[in-house]
Amino acid sequence: MTDTDAETLAERVRDGELRLYELEEHTDAETAAAARRHLLAEETGVGLDVVGEYAFDAADAEPNIENMVGAAQIPMGVVGPLPIDGGAAEGEHYLPMATTEGALLASVNRGVSTIRKTGGATARVLKSGMTRAPVFRVEDVAAAGEVSAWVREHVDDLAEAAESTTSHGELQDVTPYVVGDNVFLRFNYDTKDAMGMNMATIATEAACDVVESETPADLVALSGNLCSDKKPAAINAIEGRGRTVAADVLVPHEQVEERLDTTTEAIVEANTRKNLVGSAKAGALGFNAHAANVVAAAFLALGQDAAQVVEGSNAITTVDAREDGLYASVTIASLEVGTVGGGTGLPTQAEALDVLGYAGGGDPAGSNADALAEVIATGALAGELSLLAALSSRHLSSAHAELGR
Ligand code: NAP
Repeated sequence: MTDTDAETLAERVRDGELRLYELEEHTDAETAAAARRHLLAEETGVGLDVVGEYAFDAADAEPNIENMVGAAQIPMGVVGPLPIDGGAAEGEHYLPMATTEGALLASVNRGVSTIRKTGGATARVLKSGMTRAPVFRVEDVAAAGEVSAWVREHVDDLAEAAESTTSHGELQDVTPYVVGDNVFLRFNYDTKDAMGMNMATIATEAACDVVESETPADLVALSGNLCSDKKPAAINAIEGRGRTVAADVLVPHEQVEERLDTTTEAIVEANTRKNLVGSAKAGALGFNAHAANVVAAAFLALGQDAAQVVEGSNAITTVDAREDGLYASVTIASLEVGTVGGGTGLPTQAEALDVLGYAGGGDPAGSNADALAEVIATGALAGELSLLAALSSRHLSSAHAELGR
């Protein structure tokens, strides 16, 4: 690539000869991105010198971005080591997190060191299934009943069609929902190590062809929002989506005082009044202090779909004063994660997954994504412990003032 190549292409776009999105058809990905930066510099006066400095090959990002101009670089750190006794995650982990929120990693790391002092947390994936729910038009409620009954009796036929599109995905069930002349079919797949949204969408399209050919239902939209992807929805908080994953720990009372600078009773009260009563009063779906902080920072570092932090915030934190210590748990109902596909193959994200030891497909398939879910849930548990402690000892604003400003 030369500057002249990029400038010439930028000129052709400005002259209306080429469209902004067509550049890769005429040159390589690096030159196309440079040409867009030239164009933006001319039109906006912003050179994008830093945005244009990135450490991967633009061609590697082609499946992940259109109209590329460079990369948004977010500081990345780690918390750890975090010992986990999981169903899939085993041993000590450094969790990469990317964020611009000062004090976040320091806070989570305090929770991590508290967990480490206890010997570690326990974590389990309790349920796994990625959903896609197309909406069909029918004549009336009688037809809706007929279609629903047919679907219930022909799940095997739908599975055969759906699974013909993938060598990894398995259809687990299909649940019909009817609203007047609308029939929604919520397809649920085991997507193994993939987050699975593309996989489930492609598989569901094949199953919909069968529904349309065998019943009077007409497909209106492959996603009918009952899935429900990237929107706050009670169905995900109740039924789960992606991984339903929980982590817990028992912190001896003296360690609550030594490590967290507060008492078990103060944390229990803060959790009840804030996470339970406050969240109920707010009509929240997530009854937690800031699980989305850990989910978002881990998602950005590890190549997950950032918009699905919405579902990742469906977490309930419980704490309990037991005779031998403070029991704390976090259960995330709908954590949508994968270690293959999506953004996981991008070089920095793949490196970060490698730090955890869960990049790529697991053995057995699905075990790497399960492990990733368990690590993120345990990180969220650490974050909950530390923030509840900061609130109950009234250290929150001073910590932010010291570290974040
Ligand atoms: P993907 O990048 O589309 O593909 C993942 C593919 O990897 C699977 O389909 C599978 O191929 C293959 N694979 C290889 N080893 C595997 C293993 N061990 N376990 C599972 N699969 C394995 O990823 P995706 O997770 O299905 O979709 C994620 C992407 O969807 C993200 O980029 C996200 O932004 C995007 N997205 C799409 C929608 C949508 O509506 N389409 C919505 C939200 C997000 P086979 O299927 O051939 O076995």
